This record gives sequence, structure tokens and C-alpha cells, in this order.
Amino acid sequence: MSASLVIERLSKTYPNGTRALDSISMVIPCGMYGLLGPNGAGKSTLMRTIATLQDPDSGSIHLGNLDVLKQKEDVRRLLGYLPQEFGVYPRVSAQDMLDHLAILKGIGDRRERRETVAAMLQRVNLYQYRRKALSGFSGGMKQRFGIAQALLANPQLVIVDEPTAGLDPGERNRFYNLLAEIGEQVIVILSTHIVQDVKELCTQMAIINEGRLLYAGSPQAAEDKLAGKVWQKSLSKQELAEHQQQFRVISTKLVAGRPLIHIVSDAPPGHGFEKVTPDLEDVFFAEILGVHRTPSLPA
Ligand code: ADP
Repeated sequence: MSASLVIERLSKTYPNGTRALDSISMVIPCGMYGLLGPNGAGKSTLMRTIATLQDPDSGSIHLGNLDVLKQKEDVRRLLGYLPQEFGVYPRVSAQDMLDHLAILKGIGDRRERRETVAAMLQRVNLYQYRRKALSGFSGGMKQRFGIAQALLANPQLVIVDEPTAGLDPGERNRFYNLLAEIGEQVIVILSTHIVQDVKELCTQMAIINEGRLLYAGSPQAAEDKLAGKVWQKSLSKQELAEHQQQFRVISTKLVAGRPLIHIVSDAPPGHGFEKVTPDLEDVFFAEILGVHRTPSLPA
């Protein structure tokens, strides 16, 4: 299948009044798609809705001819989902758990299942631990098990929610490599608040905040949009507050103990600022803060 996932005017308000999704529309093609947003943006709500685990108040989702919100069973057979957290890790071995999940995915033949499970355990480097109980797995091992179960039975739609949050740099690299191996005819949605994840892996992306879509397109096009408008300056801690008042500051980082600020300004701001080439992090903060959309603010 090489159908796109088409989301139209999806909205969800939780019973406590939180508007998690506010008329989100987007088209997600095959390949690696990054869904970037700060904590609380609505990413998990969107991911769980696409994964048929919860219903929106209104709107629609289609995967090719499939109506995702109605034909849930059909979608689940095509779906690989790696949630943010599994919650419980039972005292069942990795092998037995995968075997059980493979049955649910419709692999009825025992021998085929054994081979599929073994191959998947090899691929995520857990084969030697196949008889060990999941409850005794380390964080990194749990993550790899999560990937194994998500990729079982050649899913056509893969959803990974905040996958690298708890990983050390080595584990993160291995995870990137595993994801990169998935075929190009598969839709992979990577939901994250980590800009680096999207930068390294995704050809298309969206930025959401407060349940709204702020940007959809390629990371490169997003950076190009800001080209010539991002300026940086290293300053003393005393100068920081004053600069925050005077300029549209999108980020503040400490570099060797000194604040380094990035601002957005259409015209050269003077005051010792130098122009920098925008990166995805600049795009992210500029979109989240909405600064580039309000050029009437005092610069
Ligand atoms: P993200 O994954 O981007 O962090 P979420 O989809 O988890 O965002 O949350 C979006 C908003 O909805 C947040 O304000 C969150 O507190 C709220 N929220 C999420 N789940 C629930 C729930 N079950 N009940 C009430 N509010 C929720």
C-alpha cells in the first residue's frame, strides 16, 4: 500500500475542558513524518486517535479507502504502535509475548510465527534475552521490545510516540537506525518534542501546539522561511532581561556560562547581533512563540 493518511478537521476536548485537538487537518504521505510539539501540544491525543485507541469529538481520518475511525479492526491489522509508555511489563518472556501479539496480528501458522518472532528479536538485538521476563528488562531493552512489537507483521502504518525521551545517546542512535530501516512504502509517524529526532530522520514534518497545526512541510522549507531573520548575540546575564524586553527572543542558551540568545527580526537589529542560518530549533521556537507571525510587535 502507498496510500496517504488524511486527517480532516479533527477536534477533541477532554471532559475537564482541555481542548487537546483544535480542528487539525493534515496529509501524511509514506516515509518518515515528524510530529513536533512541546509537552501538552496534543501529540499523544492525535497519535492515540490515529491508532484507534480513542475517538475524537469530530473530524475524520482516512488511510487510503479505510475510514480509520470506523474500520478499527482493519486499521489495527495494518498498524504498529509504540506508545509513550506500556504501563505494565508482565512476567512473561519476550518471546512468548511477541508470539501472543503475532497471533493477534493474524499470523495463525505456528511455524511462521516462530520464525517471524525470532527474526524480530534478532533485529532489535534481544534474541539472547528471548526467554527473560519483560518485567526484568532495563529501560533500553523495554524500548527495543516496544519496537519489536510495533514492527511485527509488516505494518503499513507505524506510530511511535516520544520514542527517544528516556534513551541514552547510544540507544538513541540504534533506535534511529532501526527506524531508518523501515521501508519507504510505509507511513511512519514520529511524535516528539525533541527537534533532533525530526532533523535526523524526517523528510516531512508538522509542528503543533495547543492542539493547532502551526506548520506542515519539509524541515528544509521551514528553515528557508526564516532565512535572514534569525540573529544571535552573546551577552552577560545582567543584559538578558533588557534584551528580552526589547527583542523577539526565541531561545536562550548558556554557552560556557554566558547566555546566547537567538532573536527574530526582519531588519538588522544592530546592537551587536550577528546573522545566523536558522536551524530547525529556531523554526520550532519561532512557530511555538508565534513571533514571526506578528511582525507588528516592536522589534
Ligand atoms: P502531548 O502528547 O503533546 O504532550 P497530550 O495529547 O498528551 O499532549 O495532551 C494535550 C492536552 O490534553 C494537555 O493539556 C493534557 O494535559 C491534556 N490531556 C491529555 N490527556 C487527557 C485526559 N485523559 N484528560 C484530560 N486532559 C488530558
